[in-house]
Amino acid sequence: LTVLFDIQISDNWPGYSLDLFTYPQHYYGDLEYVLIPHGIIVDRTERLAKDIMQDIGDNDIVVLCVLKGGYKFCADLVEHIKNLSRNSERFISMKVDFVRLKSYHNVLIVEDIVGTGRTMKVLLNNIEKYKPKMIKVASLLVKRTSRPDGYRPDYYGFEIPDLFVVGYALDYNEHFRDLNHICVINDHGKAKYRV
Ligand code: 5GP
Repeated sequence: LTVLFDIQISDNWPGYSLDLFTYPQHYYGDLEYVLIPHGIIVDRTERLAKDIMQDIGDNDIVVLCVLKGGYKFCADLVEHIKNLSRNSERFISMKVDFVRLKSYHNVLIVEDIVGTGRTMKVLLNNIEKYKPKMIKVASLLVKRTSRPDGYRPDYYGFEIPDLFVVGYALDYNEHFRDLNHICVINDHGKAKYRV
């Protein structure tokens, strides 16, 4: 028996049929399947909040939300940290920011997805200039890439195949942010929303 200590969605995982869940009517015909249902995203986020609390509780932190795709994950993560904080002896005083940073703070960067990791490395280089006390990165998704030197965030929800995903604030040309589940878009959907 092998127990995995992270959630890896394998390349041959067929996903869930769209008919098993509800989703907005304007996306009917545009999606291939559900990769991660909304409820599982929320449950996993709750546990990440607990892990983060354990590591950096009793410290003030700045939560830096990377817009726009990170807003759902960031909002849910902050909500869970607030709930845990309220119901325990430990507490985190949190400020949520989108651009500005103060040098003496601990910083938690909240991102939707890490693909190649290039975007995150650029962002980290920028933020390190402000000499924060500590930087941690939480990403809902990490893509399995062939690069062995690929960047790994401190916290992540799911490792997924190298697929283009939408939903839960992740977009395709600004569409699908209003979809709850993380889904794989189909050719019809790509053509429909191509710019
Ligand atoms: P990276 O620089 O790590 O390759 O890409 C990171 C950025 O590309 C993410 O912040 C996200 O905006 C975008 N991105 C990468 N993969 C996906 C995907 O599967 N779906 C969506 N909607 N955006 C993605």
